[in-house]
Amino acid sequence: MSTLTKRSEGSASPLRYSLFMLLLLTAPFLSAKPSPVLRKIHVDIPHWKIGGSNKVVNTVYVAAHARAPLEKALSCVTALEKKLETQFLFTFDGTYVPRYIKGTTRWSNHAHGTAIDINAHHKSQAIELVMCFEEAGWKWGGRWPRPDVMHFEWRGK
Ligand SMILES: [Zn+2]
Repeated sequence: MSTLTKRSEGSASPLRYSLFMLLLLTAPFLSAKPSPVLRKIHVDIPHWKIGGSNKVVNTVYVAAHARAPLEKALSCVTALEKKLETQFLFTFDGTYVPRYIKGTTRWSNHAHGTAIDINAHHKSQAIELVMCFEEAGWKWGGRWPRPDVMHFEWRGK
C-alpha cells in the first residue's frame, strides 16, 4: 500500500516539477520593474496646472513610443479649447510612476510611461478631450467597468 502511494506521488512529480520550473523561470520577467525609455514633451499650455499646485505644466515625460500620440492628443485638445473658447485641461496629475495597479502586483501603465492622468479632481471629462485622446490612439479609463476618469493610456507600439 505504501509502495503504491509512493509510486503515484512519483509519477505526478515530473509535471509538478515542470510547472514549478515554468513559474520559477517566468516569475522574474512578469514582476520585473519596467524601465521605460522616457522622452520629454515641452508643453506650452498656460492654463494647464500641475495637480495640487498652481504651477503651470512645462514638461511631461512619457515612454518614447507614446510621445507622438500624446503630442497629437494635446494639440487636438488645445485647438478645440481655442476654437470653442473654453477649457478642457485643468490639471496634470502624472505620467511615469513606477507602481502597481491598485490592489494587484501587476505593473501599472504608469510604470511603463504609457499613461497620463488629467483633471484628477473632476468627476468626468469633457467629451471633446476624450475624443481627442481616443482619436490619437489612447484608451480612456472612464470607459472601464470600474471607471478611472482621470486616466488615459497608450497601448499602441
Ligand atoms: Zn492613471
